[in-house]
Amino acid sequence: MRRRKNHAVFLDRDGVIIEDVHYLRHSDQLKIIPGAASAIKKLRKAGLKIVVVSNQSAVARGFITRGALEAVHRRLKSKLRAQGGAWDAIYYCPHHPQAGRRVKCDCRKPGIGMLRAAARKFKLDLEQSYLIGDTTTDMRTARNAGCKGVLVKTGKSGRDGTYKANPDATCRNLAQAASWVIKKDKMF
Ligand SMILES: [Mg+2]
Ligand SMILES: [Zn+2]
Repeated sequence: MRRRKNHAVFLDRDGVIIEDVHYLRHSDQLKIIPGAASAIKKLRKAGLKIVVVSNQSAVARGFITRGALEAVHRRLKSKLRAQGGAWDAIYYCPHHPQAGRRVKCDCRKPGIGMLRAAARKFKLDLEQSYLIGDTTTDMRTARNAGCKGVLVKTGKSGRDGTYKANPDATCRNLAQAASWVIKKDKMF
């Protein structure tokens, strides 16, 4: 029997899990959006892999070091875990095409390098995975990867105007998005 590939929920970090702070540098600035941890818990219980994918050009811009950023992520993960909702993996893109070493990478969203790396690691079926984000860049990333895109009205609420967003669903917040995803995933 062929084993079913895993389904994942890719989550943007800023404006989805935590309040969007302009270039967050320190874990003191971490504010989990109400309901986010329990939403992650529900998604995991439904058998989905949770993978955070975040553009962190603050590194290229010299606002934060990789070490400090990873310390912020450890702190965030332990806060979420305390509420029952930690992720399986987190990926971040430290690059920016016009800042620092001006790296043109394929990990910066809407590139799908981070999603591809997770797909290899967790044997994911990207076509049956989801990306929940607060920007049109996230929605473009979902399209590029062949995932379903869910736009949330927290953070930038899709008002960044970078791309034409075509979300598969629009939800109030991560909690509502999680319910949508779980319902949809049962139909596969
Ligand atoms: Mg965001
Ligand atoms: Zn990158």
